[in-house]
Amino acid sequence: MTRQQLKKFFVYLKKKYRVYAPVRDGNELYVDEVHELEEVDFSPQIPINTYKHVLVPKRDELFTFRRGKLAERKEPYAPECGFLMSVMDLKAVGLFHQVFERDPYYQKKRQSNLLVGHAFFEGSGFSGHLRERYEEDILEHVIFDILLVKSGKNEWKVFTGSERGQETLDAFGFTAYEHIEFAGLIKEEGIDPDLERHRKQIVEASQDAWLHWGEICMACGKCAIDCPTCYCFNIADEHATKEKGSGKRVRSWTTCFYNDFSEIGGGEKFLKTNAQRIQNWYAHKWVRTPREFQIMGCVNCGRCDRVCPVGIKRADVFKWMDEHKDPKYSKKKILV
Ligand code: SF4
Ligand code: SF4
Repeated sequence: MTRQQLKKFFVYLKKKYRVYAPVRDGNELYVDEVHELEEVDFSPQIPINTYKHVLVPKRDELFTFRRGKLAERKEPYAPECGFLMSVMDLKAVGLFHQVFERDPYYQKKRQSNLLVGHAFFEGSGFSGHLRERYEEDILEHVIFDILLVKSGKNEWKVFTGSERGQETLDAFGFTAYEHIEFAGLIKEEGIDPDLERHRKQIVEASQDAWLHWGEICMACGKCAIDCPTCYCFNIADEHATKEKGSGKRVRSWTTCFYNDFSEIGGGEKFLKTNAQRIQNWYAHKWVRTPREFQIMGCVNCGRCDRVCPVGIKRADVFKWMDEHKDPKYSKKKILV
């Protein structure tokens, strides 16, 4: 697809969807609503925030209730398109699909959205046989409707990964695409060995590791809000002031770092300290998610490292664990 064709395709998409894409502001990229292709930044840089609101709205009014009767939401979700999502963001969609597999609201929202990915062969070291491996090793294992792969200065090779992607391109009048059959989230060789190593480090980490990082972490939750694989939400009933017993149930984003996250009736909390919160976050991504879904809860996008106001980086956390294996460090765990 040439730049000229892409421009027309973008206009076509805009007629149907609210489009979110990477936009440059100084040195940073942000995912934001865009109106023209010229606003979109095509560089390989990962935007600091995510596209996950296209899958799970930040605030979602699920249903209303009145005198003991429920009424499902009538308004359909607004059609939204995630445009130029990186391969890492598409990998994160794979986790969301598993987590929300039986969630009717997520499924309805998915029906209304279109996921357009963006990948690079050029300059990535992928050419010839390696390019084939790229398709086999990566593209067959991520979820997308349409994928644009940069193949020249102003040219993209176009892949589809779903019927919706095919129908969209057919209706637009572009048929020179190749369809990629989804082959499951995990490639044959299994989980990335580096991520597997981190899983082991967390399982074996002593209490001292979490006390150390918990002293530094201020539990602002930015790492989780900007992480494409973090999906924690809060459910609350908002009662109408005028009529007793009526209101709406609202689902909204939250993070396990927030003070009230693990609070239960009576005010008890499971996560009381920042050490427990940061351990919970790491354990969730590298231990519990692979155990439950057979994939890692981290797609290695680096956003958490970039947004942390106190400079906590995953590499430093794992390095610290390696450097403090001395038996004098306590083996006692804070949480399992
Ligand atoms: S690098 Fe950080 S932000 Fe990105 S997926 Fe992993 S934990 Fe989340
Ligand atoms: S962004 Fe940094 S300080 Fe904030 S919760 Fe995450 S690790 Fe803690």
